[in-house]
Amino acid sequence: MTERGTVYLDHAAAGVPRSEAIEAMLPWLRDGYGNPSSIHELGRRARRALDDARESVAAALGAGPREIVFTSGATEANAAAILGVARGPKPGAIVATAIEHPSVLGAVDAAGRSGRRVALAAPGPDGCVPAVAVDVRGAALVSIMYVNNETGAVQPVSEVAARAREAGALVHCDAVQALGKLPVDVRALAVDLLSISSHKVGGPRGVGALYIREGVRLEPLLQGGGQEFGRRAGTENVAAAVGFARAVGLAVSGLKEEAARMRQATARLRAGLAAIERVRFNTPAPGSATAPHILNVTFEGVDGESLAIALDRESIAVSTGSACASLATKPSHVLAAMGLEAAAVRGSIRFSVGPTTESEEIDRVIRVVPSIVARLRSIR
Ligand code: PMP
Repeated sequence: MTERGTVYLDHAAAGVPRSEAIEAMLPWLRDGYGNPSSIHELGRRARRALDDARESVAAALGAGPREIVFTSGATEANAAAILGVARGPKPGAIVATAIEHPSVLGAVDAAGRSGRRVALAAPGPDGCVPAVAVDVRGAALVSIMYVNNETGAVQPVSEVAARAREAGALVHCDAVQALGKLPVDVRALAVDLLSISSHKVGGPRGVGALYIREGVRLEPLLQGGGQEFGRRAGTENVAAAVGFARAVGLAVSGLKEEAARMRQATARLRAGLAAIERVRFNTPAPGSATAPHILNVTFEGVDGESLAIALDRESIAVSTGSACASLATKPSHVLAAMGLEAAAVRGSIRFSVGPTTESEEIDRVIRVVPSIVARLRSIR
């Protein structure tokens, strides 16, 4: 529970900052203001901090430090990967899945508008895209997420990567919702490009990274100074990189324990909510292809937004669909692609837990939800 007594179940939108990450950043915000490109001592110190951060992030992913490019977040990392191939010389289509994050779909759309052939593979009703549904023939790049941010469904990344590689395509993976929840190893996944974001693992907002396998060439989004090995121009955000690296290190070293806690919390929530009539879970059952931290639920006959607002009045913070789209109250493209009817899409809520979630918080949700759902159903 937060200090103000809020039950925070929106960790997939923004993780709770880890105090170690905040502490690690402070010296670089206050005194370590040198520009890493400067030759003087202040600059060289900042450069060392940035190099160390890069090494930690690389180690957490099983990558080499020169394969890590810091970005402003995963939105930029996704765009850099997809447009970096689309604007480059490699011929062929840009292929992704229909359930990708809007930052991937937006970049794919931009590639399409600039003349690339694009294709999106559909998921099954369980929210998982079958590997065979991804048409890798003639693709320059195949982009597939590891864990869907709305449903928690795990996608067959290494299977798709193997098929794509055989067809001569590059493979990109948006691993934002997998980092700190499932093992993320770039060599085991056998991908060429992989995006991660700091704030989903308890690091600061506005920083992320793109793994670029050695030898892969991308057309950079940002040109200018030669920062980030010439792949992403702009003065580096040293403090953010340091905080990000600390958070990633903690999330990965504590993965087993934290994932087990999160899995327990979502299982408890699922079991509690299953007692409510006309409830449908849009997240695959535990034990199957599902991440530990997300539970997406449809309450039939209820408007999800009304439910989220009612829960907020009870100091319980949840999302309808993905946070990024919810302000625009756009129905979830993910649930629609899974074949849910419009009313069921509108009646869905995403609960997402984090390493700090306690079972008492889950119990409070289980106590509160049935009466709110009954009330909302009665006034329709
Ligand atoms: N991909 C996925 C799967 C996400 O969940 C998010 C965050 N909602 C992003 C990309 C975008 O990350 P960022 O906020 O760092 O731009």
